[in-house]
Amino acid sequence: MADLYTQIVNFPLGRLVASNVGLPVPTPLERHSPGDPVLDGRALLGAAPGGRLGAAVASMLASAGIGAATEVDERLRTGAAEAGLDAGVWSADAPGDDRFKALVFDATGIASSEELGQLRRFFSPAIRRLNANGRVVVLGTPPAAVGDPREATAQRALEGFTRSLGKEARGGGTVQLVYVAPGAEGQLEATLRFLLSRRSAYVSGQVVRIAKARKPPALDWERPLADRVALVTGASRGIGAAIASTLARDGAHVVGLDIPALSADLGAVASSLGGSAIEMDVTVPEAPEAIRAHLEAEHGGVDVVVHNAGVTRDRTVAAMSADEWEALMAINLTSQERIDDALLEGDLLRKDGRIVSISSMSGIAGNNGQTNYAASKAGVIGMVEALAPVLRKRRATINAVAPGFIETQMTQSMPIAVREAGRRMSSLSQGGLPVDVAETVAWLASPASGGVNGNVVRVCGQNLLGA
Ligand code: NAP
Repeated sequence: MADLYTQIVNFPLGRLVASNVGLPVPTPLERHSPGDPVLDGRALLGAAPGGRLGAAVASMLASAGIGAATEVDERLRTGAAEAGLDAGVWSADAPGDDRFKALVFDATGIASSEELGQLRRFFSPAIRRLNANGRVVVLGTPPAAVGDPREATAQRALEGFTRSLGKEARGGGTVQLVYVAPGAEGQLEATLRFLLSRRSAYVSGQVVRIAKARKPPALDWERPLADRVALVTGASRGIGAAIASTLARDGAHVVGLDIPALSADLGAVASSLGGSAIEMDVTVPEAPEAIRAHLEAEHGGVDVVVHNAGVTRDRTVAAMSADEWEALMAINLTSQERIDDALLEGDLLRKDGRIVSISSMSGIAGNNGQTNYAASKAGVIGMVEALAPVLRKRRATINAVAPGFIETQMTQSMPIAVREAGRRMSSLSQGGLPVDVAETVAWLASPASGGVNGNVVRVCGQNLLGA
């Protein structure tokens, strides 16, 4: 549910007052409910000449049952028709009430800075036709995968464009850039389904990289984790409880883990989801082996591991005690490394396994009073980047999710001025909900997300801090 300020400014009088004094007027975000369509409206597909992803996008839109229109572009229209997409034609002089819920632009054909004007050509008229809570996805080629320096330069420029468009988008709209490596065209569907849907309500201004991987399996998209086992640490409340329930909704058997002192809460979460529980402090020396042995004995392995348990112990470095540093680092970072080591050495993470680690915006931008926390959360990103090639060889992935301001017990206890600043300092001008982090984890945990490896995805409403 929207916070009180957002509710007030969405009444006519509140909106009038807020607008007149220059305060933000956040749009209530639409979130996914089971049975919702992937996109509640039509998508407009555009492309720069020479793009290579039009057919892959058209095939995804057709498979997801999304109504679409394309630009008047012979090659794009032929590709869409061949991919089975029955799309109308759209041009910039279409009537103003011809509107869309999503804009998808294939920018892979842009090979020089001169051709970047293709972005303005498409978006200048099209962005005005985007409905509230609309979605924009720009597709590019990873600059590192492009041989020609001018083409690499132009592809890198897409980042600045999309991040700025995210700041211009109104009405709860979100904007992302997805770099698709040559040969990874078949890996697009899970990511596009997530980014176009309400599941990504609080994700904006992100750059996702998709690499070549094995062909994704055929899936029931409502229950992509059926027959999979997911371990979630810190599962008894807050973001961890939301992750547990979202993965269970997607069909997983969830093994929730939390400290023994929270056993009643943990038991309640596990039993409400038909899952099971491990009462354990992740920092005790025997934890990695005990977790490994439990997963082996009860399930013969594990498919998804979500490292969510985490704490803050805020103090400036000048005043910080050794215990405040050590205890936090042990929970937030070292325990994750030790558990990963035990699961990988014991070969417990199955093929198509997924590790998702919860980092934080602090780990990217830094924060006053959080040298310990930010070091641990930047370390999580380092761990993900270092292990991604290792996991790729094992046909598995590891990614990080970095939440911004999320409405939890932790943020409820902040002083009101800090809390309000945290909420409003983002493109969406509001805090996110635990379910926003959970939906992002569920996308990364999907068996169809094999091409998404070594990414760091912020769930922060495009917070103004950090990149
Ligand atoms: P939370 O409500 O405090 O939940 C964290 C859970 O982890 C709690 O149940 C906690 O138990 C448990 N935990 C702590 N130490 C543990 C240990 N040694 N062994 C096992 N479990 C342990 O926090 P949250 O707000 O949901 O945050 C979840 C994750 O998101 C954390 O990694 C946090 O750093 C990250 N995050 C949150 C936000 C936000 O805005 N809320 C923003 C960025 C990142 P006790 O604390 O009771 O011991």
